Amino acid sequence: MFNLASKYLPGRVVQGLSAVYFKGLSFYNNGLRNSHSSSAEYKFEGMGVTVLPALSDNYMYLIVDENTRQAAVVDPVEPDKVLQAVERENVNLTKILTTHHHWDHAGGNQELVKKSKNTIQVFGGDDRIGALTNKVQDGDSFNIGDTKVECIYTPCHTSGHICYLVKTPCQDPVVFTGDTLFIAGCGRFFEGTAEQMCVCLLDKLGNLPGNTRVFCGHEYTLQNLKFAKHVEPNNQEIMKKIQWACDKREKGEPTVPSTISEEKLINPFMRVRETTVQHHASCSDIVETMRTIRKEKDNFK
Ligand SMILES: [Zn+2]
Repeated sequence: MFNLASKYLPGRVVQGLSAVYFKGLSFYNNGLRNSHSSSAEYKFEGMGVTVLPALSDNYMYLIVDENTRQAAVVDPVEPDKVLQAVERENVNLTKILTTHHHWDHAGGNQELVKKSKNTIQVFGGDDRIGALTNKVQDGDSFNIGDTKVECIYTPCHTSGHICYLVKTPCQDPVVFTGDTLFIAGCGRFFEGTAEQMCVCLLDKLGNLPGNTRVFCGHEYTLQNLKFAKHVEPNNQEIMKKIQWACDKREKGEPTVPSTISEEKLINPFMRVRETTVQHHASCSDIVETMRTIRKEKDNFK
């Protein structure tokens, strides 16, 4: 395994970036893909988020309201792992927040409801979601203890996709973006259009406060950054993020969360207004640029 710290001394970092980058990708492609990440805990004021890696590259998230010890889980595809975390943290799991109906996100709902000792409410925006009890729409809100959750409807990857914005009174907001917004990327347009993804990324998620932390549905960061660099080879923020992400993945750590401000600097799909991205796509219109780069990314190796 390579060691970034010893190999790339200060001052050589910029020069060494593309070597680091390609090394990181080959590290990623050669076998560690299935090792996924270790779980990680993030404590914010009043609220905690535990990152639970699942399957080969999915993330589930346990959200804990610290005052009441009430908890909710995002996309619990591996129910036993979730229940172990619930036990370990000694919390009351009462809600499932489902981003969308794909099996690698919603596939554990029924089993988790069955195995849990509490009555569990299942939130989601699509009738295809297993065990759904609370169908939500854009702007709906509910609480996990004292922690407020707002639903943001983001159709495109699927027609019923919901992102969940979580707020407590004295901390930066947190958003769970499923397969709509990834770090440095976005989900495929399976049931929607480039127009819709522009609304999701630019008008909805893009208008959240810049300090909003982004927790997404998959560990796709390095592949996404490879494409981001292809779109904007001179974007230094992308180069810095590649080095950072290689370092994280080498240690087996997740690359979540990022922030909305950061995505606006590195994510080509959030940057379709930028002339560099439009120039790459040979378009002068944001929707056409979105459509063109998504199509290119679908076939990008
Ligand atoms: Zn999906």
